[in-house]
Amino acid sequence: MNLQLCDSHCHLQDEAFDKDREAVYQRARAQGIGMVVPGYSMITSERAVALASQFELISALIGVHPHDAKEVDAADLETLREWSSDPKVVGIGEIGLDYHYMNSPMETQRAAFGQQLRLARELGLPVSVHSREAERDTLDLLDEVPGIRGVLHCFTGSWEFAEALLSRGFYISFAGPISFKNAQALREVAARVPTDRLLVETDAPYLSPAPWRGQRNEPLRVIRNAEIIAAQKNCSTKEVFAFTMSNAYTLFSRVSCE
Ligand SMILES: [Zn+2]
Repeated sequence: MNLQLCDSHCHLQDEAFDKDREAVYQRARAQGIGMVVPGYSMITSERAVALASQFELISALIGVHPHDAKEVDAADLETLREWSSDPKVVGIGEIGLDYHYMNSPMETQRAAFGQQLRLARELGLPVSVHSREAERDTLDLLDEVPGIRGVLHCFTGSWEFAEALLSRGFYISFAGPISFKNAQALREVAARVPTDRLLVETDAPYLSPAPWRGQRNEPLRVIRNAEIIAAQKNCSTKEVFAFTMSNAYTLFSRVSCE
């Protein structure tokens, strides 16, 4: 399969795709789009691993989202460690902090994030990080686990936050919000992120880019996000395909893109 582009974060295991998952996958495959499917709970991590074994162009991440941090116990961490030996598991995610919805208490979120960061470092795997209204604590926790590699997924923060992540060796990934009318500041951040650190994603089924905002999203629409980046970088969409794919597969180095 000649891959053209990578959707570095899409939840194809979500029930939003129960009726037509195979068709959604084939639409992306026809355009040479590889897909990284992160878990967000134990069940959805297990489903991500199952999808990866079923579909050639899917790789899995396993981990528990901050929303469900209160569910994470020692047995879960053991289970994640076991699942990580599957060759199609390429990292730990999505993990992080969400102080906007606060579905789990802050302290619990920080504990679950820290435990999963340490697990990733021990396993030598990169992480996919979710951070909402928690920039300072996200950086502090990353600093507690030096040497960790990863990506800040669906970046919507300030240039200062991007710079702090870049200085820690992180990649920055942009999703549909970069296409929204009121997102000029975010587009300017994207213009400044070096091309060797930039990824694209859909975060499907969420965050469809304009002009499909509000509809169910799918991996095929990662092309739209790449087009917006191309306009910001004054380069061709093809070039964005090439550098974001190469970055995705450098970060998630267990994936083969041959
Ligand atoms: Zn996500």
